[in-house]
Amino acid sequence: EYVMFNGEIVERKAAAVDIEDRGYQFGDGIYEVIRIYNGLMFTAEEHLQRLDESAASIGIEIPYAREDLQIKLESLIAHNGVRFGTVYLQFTRGNAPRKHPFPVGAAPTFVAYTREAGRPEEKLQSGVKTILIEDIRWLRCDIKSLNLLGNLLANQKAAEAGCDEAIQHRDGKVTEGSHSNVSIVKGGTVITHPANNYILNGISRRVMLEICRKEGIPVEERVFSVAELEAADEVFLTGTTIEVMPVIEHDGRTVGNGVPGAVTRKLQQEFRTEIEKQCGA
Ligand code: PLP
Repeated sequence: EYVMFNGEIVERKAAAVDIEDRGYQFGDGIYEVIRIYNGLMFTAEEHLQRLDESAASIGIEIPYAREDLQIKLESLIAHNGVRFGTVYLQFTRGNAPRKHPFPVGAAPTFVAYTREAGRPEEKLQSGVKTILIEDIRWLRCDIKSLNLLGNLLANQKAAEAGCDEAIQHRDGKVTEGSHSNVSIVKGGTVITHPANNYILNGISRRVMLEICRKEGIPVEERVFSVAELEAADEVFLTGTTIEVMPVIEHDGRTVGNGVPGAVTRKLQQEFRTEIEKQCGA
C-alpha cells in the first residue's frame, strides 16, 4: 500500500509523523477529500482551490502550485490503480516544540492517501435518517480544518441514535451536517444556508446549486429555521462521498412522504450527469 508523504510516493509503513507534529497535537492543519470516479478526480480544481483558501486563512503555506499538487495526486491515484474511491490529503503546520505561537521556519507536513470505495447506492436510493443537534462548533466553520471534535461529537450522537447524520442548528437556525451540507425543498424551491463562516461551502453544494440554476429550479441561499426543516417537503444532504443524499426521516418523524422527493431525485440524476461529463463514469 502506497501513500504520499511530503510529496513522495512511499510505502504506508515508511510514512511517519513526529509526535510534536502540530497536526497531531493541536489539529493545526487543513485537509480535503476528493472523490475518484473511473480513476479520475471529480471537481479537483475546486477542492484544491478551497485547500488554498483554508491554508491562507490560517497562515499555512502550501509548498506546491495547485497544478503541481494535482499532478502529484493523479500520480498517487494511478500508482495505486484506484478506479472508484477517494483521495484524502492534509497539510499540517509541521513539527516544532509544543508551543502555541506559530513556529518560525517549520515546514508543513503533507500526507495523502487513497481509499477504494463505491457509491453508496442503496442509501442514495432509499435515503437516510438524521437527528437534530445543537451546533457547538467554533465560528470559522468555513475553514476545512483538522479540528473536527465538534463534528465528531455531533456524528457520534447520530450514530448512537441509529442515524447517518446530525443536522446542526444555532439558536434554531439550521447550519449544516457533521460532514455534509443540508438543504430543504419547500413548494419546489431549494433552500440552503448561505456560504458564510457558519458552514463549510461544500463543493457538492456548489455543484448542486449550479444544477438548480441550469435546470431552472428556484433556489434561496438563506438561513432557514428548525421549524422550516421540520415542515419541509424534502430534505437532502450534499457531500463528496454522498453526492445528493435524500433524508427520509428526521428526529423520528417522516420527511414528506417518507421516500426521496422529486426535486431530490432530479438533483441526484443531474449530479450523476456532471460526474459522467467530468469522469466518464
Ligand atoms: N460540511 C462539513 C462540515 C464537511 O465536513 C463537509 C465535507 O465532507 C461538507 C460540509 C461537504 O463538503 P463537500 O461537498 O466539499 O464534500
